[in-house]
Amino acid sequence: MVTREAGTRGRLSRFAGELIVPGGRGYDEARSLYNGMYDKRPTLIARCTSAEDVSVALAYARENGLVVAVRGGGHSTQGFSSCDGGVVIDTGPIKGIAVDRDARTGRFGAGLTWGELDAATQAHGLALTGGRVSHTGIAGLTLGSGSGWLERTLGYTCVSLISAEVVTADGAILRASAEEHPELFWGLRGGGGNFGVVTKFEFRLHRIGPLMLAGRIWYPRAVAGALARFYRDVMEGAPDDIGGALRFVTAPSAEFVPREHRGRPACLLLMIFFGDPGGGGKKARALLSWGRPWAKLVGPTPYLELQRGADDQHRWGSREYSRVDYLDWLPDPAIDALVDCAPDASSPLSSVMLCPLGGAVSRLDRSTVALNTPDTPWMYYTVATWQQPSEDERQLAWARRFMRMMRPWSVGVAPANFIELDEGTARLRAYYGEEKLARLTALKDTYDPDDVFALNQNIPPSARTSGPFPDAGKPRAGEQSAHAN
Ligand SMILES: Cc1cc2nc3c(=O)[nH]c(=O)nc-3n(C[C@H](O)[C@H](O)[C@H](O)COP(=O)(O)OP(=O)(O)OC[C@H]3O[C@@H](n4cnc5c(N)ncnc54)[C@H](O)[C@@H]3O)c2cc1C
Repeated sequence: MVTREAGTRGRLSRFAGELIVPGGRGYDEARSLYNGMYDKRPTLIARCTSAEDVSVALAYARENGLVVAVRGGGHSTQGFSSCDGGVVIDTGPIKGIAVDRDARTGRFGAGLTWGELDAATQAHGLALTGGRVSHTGIAGLTLGSGSGWLERTLGYTCVSLISAEVVTADGAILRASAEEHPELFWGLRGGGGNFGVVTKFEFRLHRIGPLMLAGRIWYPRAVAGALARFYRDVMEGAPDDIGGALRFVTAPSAEFVPREHRGRPACLLLMIFFGDPGGGGKKARALLSWGRPWAKLVGPTPYLELQRGADDQHRWGSREYSRVDYLDWLPDPAIDALVDCAPDASSPLSSVMLCPLGGAVSRLDRSTVALNTPDTPWMYYTVATWQQPSEDERQLAWARRFMRMMRPWSVGVAPANFIELDEGTARLRAYYGEEKLARLTALKDTYDPDDVFALNQNIPPSARTSGPFPDAGKPRAGEQSAHAN
């Protein structure tokens, strides 16, 4: 259905997708974001079906002096993919898929989620590193972080990027690749949504699955310290084809967890072996046989099931605040701090996830991409997830306390996607470093000198002196104080 209202005519008559305005059918659904902390009311939501639509919507926004937000899957935890009073350029309807099984490549519309892309590629026994929650958009994740279960085997998502169709701030439609606009291509691989709206991604695909040997093993929190030490010792130097994490969670109310343990603080050891599911090698097997678990699911498991494994904890509309950092080392005191501060049963959706790095991510030639994720053996995600606004302060305080406790061992950086509103410029600088930031700023000057794409972890053009993180993602009224440091 096309909704056209007064004020959206003229230039927009060339727009082939759906235009949604306040009060129009579908407005509330179309403006909703994954993170329920943000409740924004754009003047226009332009549901684009092509690069041409994006170009038209951009021109309309610029001619009318309207703020622009760009949306893929709507998962930004900072609420960047919507705005109050401006135009949302929603690439969600761009869902085209073309997989070349023999060449092991594929072209994917920017509106796909990882669940959709994974299903399409797994039909050919192919995959690339993708997000750990299936309803995350491929667009935002590819451009600004790209971490997933396959990273130790295949590297970050952007390493598999061959080319991107991009609409720049002036409405031009470009193809960026190693041969065409190579500097833009470099910037798209880690520089976030700063340089244009991507409408299509072309990826190199890899033979993965559809089945893999996996173990999902739940332990009581009481053994967390010993389990984490064991996990550290096995994973440091483990082969590249072992992925997974050690998560500090609440035991789910699932059939496979004995009734008396459901809802209690737990540890979840997730081991995924990306090689032959009949194999696994010594280290993979060792990870499956430690201690006395509460519950144990081990065996050949569909990759698609593993990719959906955390969906239940991350329901659309949840309130969320997440932080990421990296660890150069994981000594016993760091493990003890992590265990002490992990969420208890009063925060059943919140979690801490300790992820082993190394392998392919360690071998990445960081000069070839803007992504500047450090080469460390460990990374941790602190994810506060909750449902009720009355919980905001308590949950935010927990996540911040956790990060403070881990600071002595942490590198102090996070990829753009995980830089929260209360962290801002300093963390962005720390992540990219002066050299890459200068290169990204030069790119911004070339492709978006007026900072049309400012609602993101913003790299301002050199002519603008104000720092990144404008009020784009500001919390709802009444929540400002909860976000202040
Ligand atoms: C529950 C959850 C799980 C996550 N898991 C992971 C994970 O496993 N690994 C990981 O690396 N990250 C993960 N993330 C972070 C995720 O990468 C970012 O939130 C990312 O921005 C989501 O992409 P999206 O398209 O859904 O975002 P959106 O909210 O749609 O967009 C966020 C920003 O991305 C940019 N953007 C979006 N679409 C486009 C486009 N078409 N062209 C140009 N720019 C665009 C814009 O700057 C926009 O503001 C997770 C986030 C959540 C909430």
